[in-house]
Amino acid sequence: MDTIFALSTAPGRAGVAVMRVSGPAVARVANRLMSSMPAPRRAAVRVISDGDDAIDEALVLYFPMGESFTGEEVLELHLHGSPAVVSRVSSILSEIDDVRAAEAGEFTRRAMENGRLDLAEVEGLADLIDAETEAQRRQALVVMRGGLTEKVESWRHDLLRAAALIEATIDFADEEVPVDVSPEVSELLERLKESLKGEIAAAHVAERIRDGFEVAILGRPNVGKSTLLNRIAGRDVAITSEIAGTTRDVIEVRTDLGGLPVTFLDTAGLRETEDVVESVGVDWARKRAAEADLRVILLEEDVSEIEDMAVTVKPQDIVRFGKADIPGRSTGVSGKSGEGLSELLDEIKSRLEPKLQIGATAIRERQRRAVEQALASIDRASVALDNDENSELIALEIRDALYALDNLIGRVGVEDILGEIFSSFCIGK
Ligand code: GDP
Repeated sequence: MDTIFALSTAPGRAGVAVMRVSGPAVARVANRLMSSMPAPRRAAVRVISDGDDAIDEALVLYFPMGESFTGEEVLELHLHGSPAVVSRVSSILSEIDDVRAAEAGEFTRRAMENGRLDLAEVEGLADLIDAETEAQRRQALVVMRGGLTEKVESWRHDLLRAAALIEATIDFADEEVPVDVSPEVSELLERLKESLKGEIAAAHVAERIRDGFEVAILGRPNVGKSTLLNRIAGRDVAITSEIAGTTRDVIEVRTDLGGLPVTFLDTAGLRETEDVVESVGVDWARKRAAEADLRVILLEEDVSEIEDMAVTVKPQDIVRFGKADIPGRSTGVSGKSGEGLSELLDEIKSRLEPKLQIGATAIRERQRRAVEQALASIDRASVALDNDENSELIALEIRDALYALDNLIGRVGVEDILGEIFSSFCIGK
């Protein structure tokens, strides 16, 4: 097994740069770089040197096998964050036998292989590192700390009990079964169904928090959608022009709306059109708008414009008059002057916030799908039980549900997705 090293802090000039080394050659690495290895898990100051040549003075930490993030022996060098120090130390490390630079996510991969984290926790960690908003940070932390794993364990516990009860009856002929296990199995399955259904509902919200809520800005061409979006983004992302129908594609702007991740969509002007390219844009815009979590409808003159847009307005949608800065216009919002904008953003936030109340632990689509699979098997098992079908069939469905849950935490059948998950990490994690 190679010993790997990587800079775990962001590259560039900084106060401190943390270089992590993990693997069986850690003692040799320490021997090469410093006078002596610090005591386990105790910070110590060491001169980092290459023979007689002193390179830096660093804070050093040593984690013995089984007591580190990766589960291997780990040495952490808190160097001064200078590109020269980091590059010199890296080059010495690469000269040491069986020591090499780590690949993206390799520390985490080793942590998983050594049983320090399961797959769900790894995904939680990846999401925590990627978290840009408070809501994303909060839910990722729960998963990283084993919140989902704990739930899966309790579901597995109930499923194993149900499987044991059912399987105990398989070897008996009908008339010989000592006790009727159906009521207990049925109760276990009902409880599981409730719990899994709740998790799936919450997971849909969690995916929104992870990937962002979508808010579509709709309105006739030239009503001021792009201008409004530019103001929201605080930079020029959508092209604003005087010619009707220039915004042909859906333009997305990701924002952090007071802790909520919100992606604004500027949709092509919604109106009937002869232009083929534009009409494709309009169809696409309608579809995206229909799927968005919320729609902001900008009007030019009166409410009847909504009918021309051929979009279905939902009760939570927000309707505003645009270009409110023009004298004599109705009160509303103006992308040009910014008036009415903070009220609009507050309104958007207050309509999305109630969706946050349900706490979920399955926060990725992969995780939700695994829960859905488990639920489908449990549903089939409980129908089979109600219909007095044979025990083997029921046991089989329960096994399938267990398999789906094992898959969720990476106990089985996940080799194919590991590469994808770890490559999403940065080097040094
Ligand atoms: P879109 O087609 O709905 O995206 O509209 P645009 O944002 O491209 O704006 C169309 C025209 O209206 C441009 O000439 C803008 O300068 C103008 N416009 C957009 N928003 C405002 C506004 O809030 N006030 C005023 N006075 N003009 C605006």
